[in-house]
Amino acid sequence: MHKEHVYIGLGSNLGDSGATLEAATKAMGELTDTRVLARSSLYCSSPMGPQDQPDYINAVCLLETALEPVELLRALQNIENRHGRERKGERWGPRTLDLDMLLYGNTEMNTAELTLPHYGMAAREFVMVPLFEIAPSMIMPDGNPIALWVSRCNLEGLRRITPSNQS
Ligand code: ATP
Ligand code: MG
Ligand code: MG
Repeated sequence: MHKEHVYIGLGSNLGDSGATLEAATKAMGELTDTRVLARSSLYCSSPMGPQDQPDYINAVCLLETALEPVELLRALQNIENRHGRERKGERWGPRTLDLDMLLYGNTEMNTAELTLPHYGMAAREFVMVPLFEIAPSMIMPDGNPIALWVSRCNLEGLRRITPSNQS
């Protein structure tokens, strides 16, 4: 069976975000023909877009899956919904769970439903730093090492949550 490596960006800023990211990782590992190969530490980041919302907890995980990209997207949306994700129309508003597909192998696609690689990843320190933690020698889609992408990010406002200050 053909399997691909897929990186997922996880985020939450409502409810018990740490527990939600934990549960979401477990749920991804329980999808058909899918397992979790790695998960980064948790990070705390200032919100993107509207500032009148709580800080985010973020992480990145690596899946190995036989699901096709759109099948996986729908499965991720199903997990978001099961964790109380509400879509209120406000862009980048607060949410219990966001699961974004960052990279699906080397697949490039751009449909109304799914853009791969994820369009915003390069500029988001809360994606690039946890991704770098689990894939420090990755070559990015433009041929540059991940370290170069990380060096271009603004790391202010991002904190790794170490086990001692994790509640
Ligand atoms: P952003 O995509 O800027 O991080 P968001 O995660 O808050 O914003 P969502 O409301 O979660 O946005 O998703 C909006 C739509 O984005 C989804 O309905 C989905 O079809 C689409 N989408 C396109 N590409 C991707 C991708 N790579 N991963 C997840 N969703 C994607
Ligand atoms: Mg997102
Ligand atoms: Mg999303």
